[in-house]
Amino acid sequence: MNAARKPLLAANWKMNKTPEEALAFWREFSGRLSGETGRVEVVICPPYPALPALQGADLRARGVYLGAQNVHWESRGAFTGEVSPGMLRAVGCSHVIVGHSERRAYFGESDEAVKRKLRAALEEGMTPILCVGETLEQRTAGRAEEVVAAQLTAALEGLDTGRAARVVVAYEPVWAIGTGRSAEARDAGEMAVAVRRRLRELAGPAAEKIRILYGGSVAPDNFAQFLAEAEVDGGLVGTASLRPESFFALVASAANAATAQAGEGEAQ
Ligand code: PEP
Repeated sequence: MNAARKPLLAANWKMNKTPEEALAFWREFSGRLSGETGRVEVVICPPYPALPALQGADLRARGVYLGAQNVHWESRGAFTGEVSPGMLRAVGCSHVIVGHSERRAYFGESDEAVKRKLRAALEEGMTPILCVGETLEQRTAGRAEEVVAAQLTAALEGLDTGRAARVVVAYEPVWAIGTGRSAEARDAGEMAVAVRRRLRELAGPAAEKIRILYGGSVAPDNFAQFLAEAEVDGGLVGTASLRPESFFALVASAANAATAQAGEGEAQ
């Protein structure tokens, strides 16, 4: 982590939780919060049908943001099954995940589609959480950095610096997602350094403002190790975000790390 960037923790619930279950989670989770959201940006990304219920629960009053897991780039029209950035805004979303590896792998989402989604989200004033990451085959072949650099280039090249600074990047090695097998913190840290390097090439000084998250089997017992890496600014969390107690443990861990870092900064 770096004291200049506020850490961000995003819950990706994927295709889990009805509106009632989402509200039950929120009651339990919000009951545990006591000031952490001043130090950590916390985002909950439920499935679409649960968005209005959570909007009604007024997460913002407790410092928590609402996000979506996907978005279309057009604002309206004949795109059956799709949802536009404006529609997400209307149900309280400030953040949206784009290019998650499950969308790339199972729904054929191309780099071009991810680029359009990212730009449409920015146009609507939302914060896109851009997912990048290599497969196990690509990592074994020594191509992890090259693959991730290409995904970053495809999504961000040509973006003006004001917009680039609002992007969040989630580095998620595909083989670590939902498998219970996280990356080694040091490997994730090295990849985050490589991501920051590419971001500097693409966005210049705006790169210093971009939060880089790690995602892939993050859990309460391993998260602090990832946060100790200089270029890791938080996490994108699937499985461990489904239970209020484990997601809160991650939020508390990030808040403690941010407090410790602020203390170090003052001591220097
Ligand atoms: C994810 O959904 O982006 C993710 C990282 O899932 P998990 O934490 O379950 O690996």
